Amino acid sequence: MSQRGTTVFTDIDWARPGKQVGHAWLPHSGHDDAWGAVALPLAVVGNGEGPTVFVTGAIHGDEYEGPIVINELIRSLDPSRVRGRLILMPAANAPALRAASRVSPLDGKNLARVFPGNPYGTPTEQIAAFIHDVIFPLCNAYIDLHAGGSSLFIEESAQVVVTPTLAPEVRERAEDMARWFGAKFTVITDNMGDPRTSCGAAAQLGLAAIAAEMGENGSVSPRGVKRTRECLARVLARLGIVPAELPATPPPSRRVRIVSHGGNLLSPGDGYFEPLHSLGDTVAVGDIAGYLHSLSEPALVPRELRFMAGGTVYSQRTFGMTRQGNSLCVLVEDEPEATA
Ligand SMILES: [Zn+2]
Repeated sequence: MSQRGTTVFTDIDWARPGKQVGHAWLPHSGHDDAWGAVALPLAVVGNGEGPTVFVTGAIHGDEYEGPIVINELIRSLDPSRVRGRLILMPAANAPALRAASRVSPLDGKNLARVFPGNPYGTPTEQIAAFIHDVIFPLCNAYIDLHAGGSSLFIEESAQVVVTPTLAPEVRERAEDMARWFGAKFTVITDNMGDPRTSCGAAAQLGLAAIAAEMGENGSVSPRGVKRTRECLARVLARLGIVPAELPATPPPSRRVRIVSHGGNLLSPGDGYFEPLHSLGDTVAVGDIAGYLHSLSEPALVPRELRFMAGGTVYSQRTFGMTRQGNSLCVLVEDEPEATA
């Protein structure tokens, strides 16, 4: 099945119709369990002809709206309502989810920075390789549900990850998914030039892929759960996999891109950051973004940090305590609709 091989095995039969709820098992030989395995929850709901759509949650283990809604779907979905096949992986990085951590406690790695993975690498790299080599080739479309995690406040958004070599037809299908997902913002992004996310890798394989940011601050947001439920149902209906009544036009969503030069304000030093702005605020180049305090030295005047570009505040750091190089704020600007 996979040319690179895989150590991961599963009790799921990809071709069998109906609902299967099981696991992918990643062998893991630790100090207290020589021949054990890491369980990655996996469900497939299939019914006849149609597309195959893959949905992941907890690629980062401190983002909960996706796993909550995917598990809800696993419990509630009647296979007779499905046209095609839905592959659901609510806790893609299950060890990270159990540790409530962005990165895996097994190897310190971020599952959204290791694609296409390595089937004989570290546990996180093995999970990426299993998704990339075994699941992606079965699929037409991919939805990756994220939130801001512990370190970010972030605007509700669906991201379309574009790369220089992305086929225009794949991009158009992804943009259509993002439109119908209908988050407050649609972000057209190259993920700051980093292709190692699951969506970046999926797009390179020809899958229409979107990543959504539906909560923040390592918490469970009631609005985030509700909106994830609504937005996921709408895009699954649009893809024809779980048919439902759709409005004549997609909901409004502001189409933006991350400001490429100076749009990510990085802390120039260590301290405590006091922001002066909130998500959604419009700021101009040269405006004071906030102050970097040295709280243990009252006589030191806080350092003024200014925006290097103008735009709309899209994300902000949650933690007050700040180290040199931390992202304090990311700005977006309007992106015109692509013209062929
Ligand atoms: Zn995430």
